[in-house]
Amino acid sequence: KNEYIRKPEWLKIKINTNKSYTGLKKLMRDKKLNTVCEEARCPNIHECWSERKTATFMILGDTCTRGCRFCAVKTGLPNELDLGEPERVAESVEIMGLKHVVVTAVARDDLNDGGAAVFADTVRAIRRRVPGCTVEILPSDMKGDYDSLHTLMGGEPDIFNHNIETVRRLTKRVRARAMYDRSLELLRRVKEIRPNTPTKSSLMVGLGEEKEEILQAMDDLLAHNVDIMTIGQYLQPTKKHLNVERYYHPDEFEDLKQIAMEKGFKHCEAGPMVRSSYHADEQVNETSAQ
Ligand code: SF4
Ligand code: SF4
Repeated sequence: KNEYIRKPEWLKIKINTNKSYTGLKKLMRDKKLNTVCEEARCPNIHECWSERKTATFMILGDTCTRGCRFCAVKTGLPNELDLGEPERVAESVEIMGLKHVVVTAVARDDLNDGGAAVFADTVRAIRRRVPGCTVEILPSDMKGDYDSLHTLMGGEPDIFNHNIETVRRLTKRVRARAMYDRSLELLRRVKEIRPNTPTKSSLMVGLGEEKEEILQAMDDLLAHNVDIMTIGQYLQPTKKHLNVERYYHPDEFEDLKQIAMEKGFKHCEAGPMVRSSYHADEQVNETSAQ
């Protein structure tokens, strides 16, 4: 039945590809780097790269050991670790003149530390080269290994972001090998390790969840001391991925945002195009002041 759900008007946007953006794409190829902005064909790329000076780098290779059914990243056995990657990310951040950078990674379940050391090195390398740039990390659940989490936090990120992605009931269907409670616990532990680091999590809607379940997810995140929440529309990357069950109207996102703020989040972004890293530069300023 879902093939007949039409994409609504507010999602039909034209991707802006101006010159400066094309140059940046070349920079990524030259430095052998991957960004979520490009991989996910994010509709916000022009606004983020050229105007807001923010980008999301995906480190530790382009091949993930997991295969979540909403995600376009390819699955397989990853390549060897690239120890020069942290420095090349930092160089690119400098060249792009970024003010806020999000560092995420494929899930490296093949590595003992899940890639935590390279992750932390990347944050340190950015700090050294571009001291004014704020750094947000968006790691996997590190298989629930808290030694890896300590290693990761050693980079002292400005924001710790880990996405629950969907409500409890749909987690098994949507996220390969992830667990709802393990993700919540990871977020809680971050606050234990560094209480002043703002934590953040995202939800995609349109996967068949009920409103009540979304509200429950908000309560669960708050119960684990999460400060920031983002809510966006799930879009099917290819026909092989999960169908979109429903497109939410912009007013519904507005409503969810209001509820989230009333419940007690310090910041919430919600909207059809909102992605985990969207307007992240604003969040760091708002939450670190508290
Ligand atoms: Fe990149 Fe995130 Fe901006 Fe999309 S919203 S362009 S993924 S930084
Ligand atoms: Fe995609 Fe992350 Fe799932 Fe890997 S773990 S398939 S990168 S969402």
